[in-house]
Amino acid sequence: MDLKAYLRDIPDFPKPGILFKDITPLLNDPAAFAESIRRFTERYGAEKIDAVAAAEARGFLFAAPLALILKKPLVPLRKPGKLPYKTHSLQYDLEYGSAELHVHIDGFNPGDRVLLVDDVLATGGTLAAACQLIEKADGIVAACAVLLELSILKGREKLKPHEVFSILTA
Ligand code: AMP
Repeated sequence: MDLKAYLRDIPDFPKPGILFKDITPLLNDPAAFAESIRRFTERYGAEKIDAVAAAEARGFLFAAPLALILKKPLVPLRKPGKLPYKTHSLQYDLEYGSAELHVHIDGFNPGDRVLLVDDVLATGGTLAAACQLIEKADGIVAACAVLLELSILKGREKLKPHEVFSILTA
């Protein structure tokens, strides 16, 4: 199945010069969505993974079905003010300004091997911050797994030494 056919290019969104990869056609097609989850499962089903984590919001769409199929805990990494219990947090720089991710202090058990999932790997800033947050919360990043890697942006470099698995590259 050609999953790339289910991604739609939207030029100049959310601002001029960005070619946005819209995943909603894939989400709209149950067979294509299931196939994307099957490919993550095929890669990580036999690996030692203790938890699946994702940063809001689109990462949740892939992490939730994957966690269910792998029968592993799902741990959300969220923007400030969303998680109700005590959190670890991590601030990181964006192109303009900064952002912050939080995780509950009991999200992981110490030494948990965490599979970090997202839709698109662009510059890698978000996933790199998520990796640091997982480590701050005593987890170990087993790998970063994404539906689509925009290779030209070299996000993979920013994630070293962590393993990066991408179903599709563009
Ligand atoms: P980055 O931190 O640059 O890797 O990107 C942060 C998040 O923004 C990614 O997890 C994607 O969800 C989203 N994103 C960035 N660039 C694109 C793009 N060109 N098309 C679709 N989503 C994008």
